Amino acid sequence: MALRDEVRERGGGRCECTMKTCCHHRGRCNAILRGEWQMHRRSAGGPYTYTLGNVIAMCQTCHRNTRTYGRGYWHLELPNTYKASRCQ
Ligand SMILES: [Zn+2]
Ligand SMILES: [Zn+2]
Repeated sequence: MALRDEVRERGGGRCECTMKTCCHHRGRCNAILRGEWQMHRRSAGGPYTYTLGNVIAMCQTCHRNTRTYGRGYWHLELPNTYKASRCQ
């Protein structure tokens, strides 16, 4: 099974984000993952491999709120004009 599928299965098909910087959820996000969801590395400073233990499933909305959004190599195709919508 691909890691991406394992991560989604672990999360019950839902976003595993628990960041406090997200406005749209308290506690866990639980948004249903479909379309362009992301695997987010827990630690920005490596190891740079993706394993089930160091990634969480994230919906697009949450992923845009991460510190590393737009800097990781896997988002290079995204426009760099994006501004994160943080809570006020
Ligand atoms: Zn989310
Ligand atoms: Zn979130």
